[in-house]
Amino acid sequence: MTEAQEKRKAKRRSKRGTVCHCCGKTLTFCWSCRCGFAICQECMYENEWGMTCNGITWQCPDCSAQNGFGNQ
Ligand SMILES: [Zn+2]
Ligand SMILES: [Zn+2]
Repeated sequence: MTEAQEKRKAKRRSKRGTVCHCCGKTLTFCWSCRCGFAICQECMYENEWGMTCNGITWQCPDCSAQNGFGNQ
């Protein structure tokens, strides 16, 4: 591998992202809890029936805290 390729790869790795605790993918946006739990939009949609009961807040499966959908 050339030095240029090495640099490009390092740059991509350092790009900010959040790892979804559900599917393990790194995404630019995840719903996150103050305890550190994060879930992507896709997994949130799939697990909506178990995460929210009113569509306004979702409950963190790790610490049971209520998190709002609108404040981030
Ligand atoms: Zn996910
Ligand atoms: Zn939590």
